Amino acid sequence: MKHFPLHFGGVDRESTDTRDQVDPATERVWATCAEASNGDVDAAVGSAATAYRQWATLAPGRRAEHLLAFASALEARADHVSRIESRSNGKPIRETRLQVAFAARMLRYFAGLADKVFGHVVPLDASDVLDYYTREPHGVCALIVAWNSPVQLTVNKIAPALAAGNTVVVKPSELASASVIELARIGSRAGMPPGSFNVVTGGATVGEALCHHPDVALISLTGGIRTGRRVAQIAGERLVPVVLELGGKSPQIVFADADRSRAISGIVAGIFAAAGQSCMAGSRLYVQEPIFDEVMRELAHSASQIRIGDPLLPETEMGPLITSEHRERTLDVIGEAVSTGAHVLTGGRATGVGASKRGYFLEPTILVDVTPSMRCVREELFAPVLVAQPFTALEEVAALADDGTHGLAAGIWTQDVSTAMRLAAQIRAGTVWVNDYRRVSAGAPFGGFRSSGHGRERGLESLRTYTTTKNVVINYGAQARDPFTIGTS
Ligand code: NAD
Repeated sequence: MKHFPLHFGGVDRESTDTRDQVDPATERVWATCAEASNGDVDAAVGSAATAYRQWATLAPGRRAEHLLAFASALEARADHVSRIESRSNGKPIRETRLQVAFAARMLRYFAGLADKVFGHVVPLDASDVLDYYTREPHGVCALIVAWNSPVQLTVNKIAPALAAGNTVVVKPSELASASVIELARIGSRAGMPPGSFNVVTGGATVGEALCHHPDVALISLTGGIRTGRRVAQIAGERLVPVVLELGGKSPQIVFADADRSRAISGIVAGIFAAAGQSCMAGSRLYVQEPIFDEVMRELAHSASQIRIGDPLLPETEMGPLITSEHRERTLDVIGEAVSTGAHVLTGGRATGVGASKRGYFLEPTILVDVTPSMRCVREELFAPVLVAQPFTALEEVAALADDGTHGLAAGIWTQDVSTAMRLAAQIRAGTVWVNDYRRVSAGAPFGGFRSSGHGRERGLESLRTYTTTKNVVINYGAQARDPFTIGTS
C-alpha cells in the first residue's frame, strides 16, 4: 500500500495519524495519507515563515529560475502525477494529463511575471516630493483546495503567490491529497528553497487550524459555499484577506441560429466532462423554443454514447463520482425532481464498471420539465446532471440565467454577435464563453460573482491578489512643514 506523508521544510514528515484514500472507480483503499496534527500545522507554518525571509527578498529573476526548474521537473513526472490524480479522484487520465501539463504552463507563466511586479510613481501637485508605491507579498499564505482537480487548483494559487514572493502552506482535500504531496516533493527535488512550498493533509479540522494560525497572512480557498462562509468567518475574525473560489450553477444558452454540432459538443463538455464535478460545469441548459426538442434528442443521444469506465484507460470519457455519499445525495435530488414533475430524458441511475460493477458511477443524466424552484435547478449538484428548459426571447433567458445566487460562468451559443454581446453584458458571472465552453488559460482571470466567490486566480489579476501596496513618500525639499496641518498634494 502506498503512503503519502506530510511535506514541509523541503522534506517528507511522518504524522501520528493517517487517512485511507479510496479509489472511487474501484471502491478500494489504494493508499494512505498523513493526517496532520495541530503541531504539524504549526511546524509547517513555521517552515513557511522562516523561508519567507529569504524568498521574499530573493531577486525576482532568481525566484523565476526556481519556478522554471519546478515546471521542468513537473513535466518530466507528468505521467506519474496524472496517474496518481486519476486514481485519487476518478477523473479520466485524458483530462488529468492535460491539467498537469497546464499546471507546468502556469508555473512558467508566473515565472515570467516574477520580475514584472511593477510599482507606480504617483504624479503630485507638489514639488520636491516623490510618491511611489510598490507591490509587496503578504507573507505566509494558507491555500486550501478541493478534490476535483488537486494539482491544477494548487498551482492556480502557488504559482502567483510564489512568484510575488509569498511562501505557502497548501492543504489539499482529505478525499484526494496524494497528487499534491507528490507535487511538493517534485518541487523540493527541483530545488525550491525548503519551506517555500509546504503541504499539510487532513480535513476541516486541519483546514481550520491553518486558517487560525497567527502567522498566516492571507487565506485562499477553493471549495464549496458552506466552507467559504466558515473560512471567511475565520478570516474576518483574524482580519486577514481571503480569496474564495466557490461553486457554480452555470447556465448554457442556445439560440435557434447556433451552430448545432458545436453547441451540442460544448454542452456535453460543459456538464459531462469530469462527470460534472467541475466548478464551471454548465449544469443549467436553456434552449430557444423552436429547436428545443431537436437539441434535446441529439443531446440524449450524445450522452448515451459517453464511454464510462476506468479513469486510467485513455479511451475513458467519464469517471465515477468521488464518494458513495455524493452519488446518493445526487440520486436523492434527481428523485425529488421526478416526484415533483420533472422527467428523466436519459440516465438517472447509479452504475458500475468492470466484471464486479464497482465504482461510484452515475449515468450521464438529463432532466426536462423542470421548474426554476426545484433543487436540481437551484443547487450545485457537482454531478453529471443537466437540467434543461426552453425559452423564447433574449430578455427572458437573461433573467432565467441570472436567477439564483451563483455567478461563476456562462455559455452562449449563437452566430449573432449582437445577441452574444447583449446577453454577455447582462449575465453576472466571472467568465462568459461565446461558442465555446470550459476553455481556460494562464493569462485569463478566473473567479466568481456573488456566492461563487471573490478574488481572481490566474493572469495579472492574481498577482494583485497575492500582493498588497506599500506607498513611500519622500520629501526631498529644504523647507520644514507646518506641523499642525496635513500635507496634501
Ligand atoms: P469543500 O468545501 O468540502 O472542501 C474544500 C476544501 O476545504 C477541502 O480541502 C476541505 O478539507 C477544506 N475544508 C472543509 N471545511 C473546512 C473548514 N471548516 N475550514 C477550512 N477548510 C475546510 O469542497 P469540495 O467538496 O472539496 O469541492 C467541491 C466544491 O469546490 C464545489 O462547490 C466546487 O464548485 C468548488 N470548486 C470551485 C472552484 C473554483 O475555481 N471556483 C474550483 C474547483 C472546485
